[in-house]
Amino acid sequence: MLNFTVGPVMSPQEILEVASVSTPYFRTEEFSKVMFENEAMFLTFLHAPENARCVFLTSSGTGAMEACVINVLNEFDKVICINGGFFGQRFVELCRLHRYEYTEIKCEFGKPLDMSLLEALGGKEYTALLVNMHETSSGIRYDMNAIADFCKNNEIVLIVDAISSFIADSIDMERLGADVILTGSQKALALQPGIAIVALSNRAIDRVKNNREKSLYFSFKEALKNMERGQTPYTPAVTILLQLHKRLFAMKEAGGILAEQKKIHELAEYFRNHLVDLPLDFLVEHDKDRSNAVTALKSHHHKAEEIFERLKKEYSIWICPNGGKYKDDIFRVGHIGCLKKRDYDLLLDALREINAKGYM
Ligand SMILES: *Cc1c(COP(=O)(O)O)cnc(C)c1O
Repeated sequence: MLNFTVGPVMSPQEILEVASVSTPYFRTEEFSKVMFENEAMFLTFLHAPENARCVFLTSSGTGAMEACVINVLNEFDKVICINGGFFGQRFVELCRLHRYEYTEIKCEFGKPLDMSLLEALGGKEYTALLVNMHETSSGIRYDMNAIADFCKNNEIVLIVDAISSFIADSIDMERLGADVILTGSQKALALQPGIAIVALSNRAIDRVKNNREKSLYFSFKEALKNMERGQTPYTPAVTILLQLHKRLFAMKEAGGILAEQKKIHELAEYFRNHLVDLPLDFLVEHDKDRSNAVTALKSHHHKAEEIFERLKKEYSIWICPNGGKYKDDIFRVGHIGCLKKRDYDLLLDALREINAKGYM
């Protein structure tokens, strides 16, 4: 199976090998060292400000989204949610479920955020903003600098879901003045699913310390306390944390995050430049608004689901279908994980063949 989805994605062999032995006991100095190094490397790759800290959660990315909402925010906050699709909607639902006062800015699917809608909320006592840097369901990447400037000007806490952006797109936590940046193990990190990582600014840590704890398992207060000795409060997905160490260390050795980002960007460009003869359109109009992680495509003839099925059955290729009302119109091709140009040649050949047979 050749996997072009956006996660879980294909892992490199050396990462898979980490999972081929029994999980070691983890209340040890050796494991604490691994965790300190994981934290330091992750914060370096984010260009996090001094005094920023990390917590590692054994959960999917959504667990980290919810944990951020309950640990960093509180009932006195007035929250702005940017909702451009499936994952923006998830932040909205979290705010509703946890009964925060919130205002939702809806973006048309696959379209950039209309900054005038955000500017209109300036000076109105909002205290926090939730955004998915890359709305993975449509492939749109928001203009984070513009959003960050708005937050700075209005003294708003900025919480960024970068689950599918981390590594794929450039992120500078310090430049953004972001308070929280979160990601997960199964996207561009290309590890097995199960670990989420959250970077917290000094201001976010203060909030965590002053907020009432609302969860035992997802308490950041406990997680931060345990990280002082390189540990987690409960048994974490030890194997994935060891994979994380291997992955971050390999990136560091290979010259840092930029080399990896360049590779993902080049794969995305390669794929995007070879679609000319196919009856497909880009969902996101301008290249500057597209994440490097994924390309969302619109089928001219409402054949998205059929293309997905044929690739899977006839070519053993997985792409990412879109659900719900976009099922027949949109599919996505990822550029993260262990992929090479020749893998895209195989995918493009398959797409051309499907088209030639009249199924597209
Ligand atoms: C994948 C993803 C998530 C959710 O991740 P899960 O691990 O499935 O919970 C959240 N936000 C974004 C932007 C994502 O791409």
